[in-house]
Order: sequence, then structure tokens, then C-alpha cells
Amino acid sequence: AKHAGRNTFRFYQEAFTRSADARLSLESRLRRALEGDGFEMYYQPFVDVASGRIVGAEALVRLKPDGGPYIGPAEFIPLLEESGLIFELGTWVQRRVCRQGREWLDQGLDFERLAVNLSAEEVRRGGVVERLRDILAETGFPAAKLEIEITESGLIHRGAEALAFLHELKGLGVQLAIDDFGTGYSSLAYLKRFPVSKLKIDRSFISDLPDDHSDAQLTTTIIELARNLGLQVLAEGVETDAQRAFLAERGCDVYQGYLCSPPVAAAQFAERFLGASCQ
Ligand code: C2E
Ligand code: CA
Ligand code: CA
Ligand code: CA
Repeated sequence: AKHAGRNTFRFYQEAFTRSADARLSLESRLRRALEGDGFEMYYQPFVDVASGRIVGAEALVRLKPDGGPYIGPAEFIPLLEESGLIFELGTWVQRRVCRQGREWLDQGLDFERLAVNLSAEEVRRGGVVERLRDILAETGFPAAKLEIEITESGLIHRGAEALAFLHELKGLGVQLAIDDFGTGYSSLAYLKRFPVSKLKIDRSFISDLPDDHSDAQLTTTIIELARNLGLQVLAEGVETDAQRAFLAERGCDVYQGYLCSPPVAAAQFAERFLGASCQ
């Protein structure tokens, strides 16, 4: 038993060393990417549920392929948050998306909105509002067409501070959306005071629709809540026509998901989706 214990220990130690190495090499890959043009933005269509019209997109960051394994933002964003580099990435993302959006508008390709994600850690560090004001001025992108997605957990525990921050942000003329709605702290008390215009229902509630009874109940409840509060409601991660039909019947405004398209590169988004429909 003792022997086995030692082996187990050695196994964990090796695994730990390997993962620390992997972490270091990912961190240096991320630093290189930030210094030299190593990131790009992908765009995933927002689809009006009732008409099928594409009304905009969520911009999602990608590491450009460099021969290494694919690493998605769910893995590298937390690392950037821990190392403090997230603010730099956020600056790049917002500038890139606003420039891209301005270009599309100049080419006569219209849309209602482009959304970017704001990390809770960026909010915590401060300076977000000033930075965004500068980027909007510099790029000439219309603030009303920019949507900022923030997760519940990034806001709720901040109370009054979060409220002041959201009002400042809103003061720029941008739209605010609560991301991954339903997964964070219970936020019902705050919801009516937050100056947000949209709730994004988390994919975990959508994936087992329409068969899962409690998910169906929850989704229906969130849609009704949004309507009662005068908020737009979007369902994330819609993959099947049965899910879309369920949402249409409940009066959900917008969906996003593989049923229409995964996130795609900017050129492809403009060519295939701007001014077009999905279903
Ligand atoms: P999120 O904001 O909840 O973004 C939605 C994620 O769901 C995206 O993953 C998207 O590709 C994926 N998705 C969309 N439709 C479907 C579907 O039908 N089925 C499935 N299985 N997945 C779907 P992605 O691009 O890997 O991003 C993961 C997370 O990384 C995002 O979650 C967001 O929290 C974060 N992230 C991405 N880009 C940025 C960024 O530019 N800045 C910040 N701060 N965070 C970002
Ligand atoms: Ca998001
Ligand atoms: Ca989300
Ligand atoms: Ca998410």
C-alpha cells in the first residue's frame, strides 16, 4: 500500500509539473500574440427568431493558428485575467470590433448591433469607460450599435459599485446585456435597477430543450421575466430546429447558435450573413 502511495504521489507530481509547463508556454504564447497581431475576431450571427433576419453578431476572440494546438478563449481568458493582461486584450478587441463595424457600415452593410464581451476582471481594474469612450471617438463607430456583454457573477457581488459602473457605461450610449443569465447569483432584486436592455439565456438551459421539463419551465420563466421588465431576450447555443421552434412559440426575441452558424471570420460573416437571413 505504501508503495502504491508513493507511485500515486509521483504520478501527481509529474502531472502537476507538466501542467505548470503547459501553463507557462501558453502564457508566453499569449504575450507574443498580444505584442504581434496574434489574435483575430470571429463573429457569430444574432438571428431574429420570428423573421429569421440576421440582426448582428457577437464578436468572439481567437488565437491565430501558429502550429500549436487549438486553445479557445474559455481556456486562455482566465489566464489573461490572472496575469493582468486581460485589459490589453480588451482594448485590442474593442478597437478591432469598432473598426470592423465602421468599415462594414461604410460599405453599406448595415446591422443593428455588434456585441463584445467584457471580463469581470477588466471591470474590477477600472478605466473601462474612459477607454471605450476613446475607442468610440477614434473609430467613429456608433455607440448605439455596440452591445457590451457582462456576466451576472461579474456584477452582482459589487452591489452599488456595479450599479454606478453600469450607469457610466450606459452613459456612452452603448447597449448592455447580461451574459450567461441564470447561472450566476440570484439577481432578481438587482435586475430591475440595472440599466441593461438584454438578457442572454445560458446555453445550459437550452441544450436539452424541448424535452427536459425543468429546462423548458426555466426558459419559459426567463422569457416571461424579460418581457415583464421590458428587456430583449436572447437564447444562446441553439443547435436544433426543435429548440428554435420552442423559443419561437414562447416569444423569445433572438437566438444564437450552431443551427444558424458557428462563429466565423469577419470576411465570411460579411459575405454570408450581413443583410441575410437564417431561418
Ligand atoms: P460566451 O460569451 O458565453 O460565448 C458563447 C460561446 O458559446 C462561444 O464559445 C461560442 O462559440 C459558443 N457557442 C455558440 N453557439 C453554440 C452552440 O450552438 N453550441 C455550442 N456547443 N457552443 C456554442 P467561445 O468562442 O469558445 O468563447 C468561450 C467564452 O470565452 C465566451 O463565452 C466568453 O466568456 C469568453 N470570450 C470569448 N471572446 C471573448 C472576448 O473577446 N473577451 C472576453 N473578455 N471574453 C471572451
Ligand atoms: Ca458572451
Ligand atoms: Ca454566454
Ligand atoms: Ca459562457
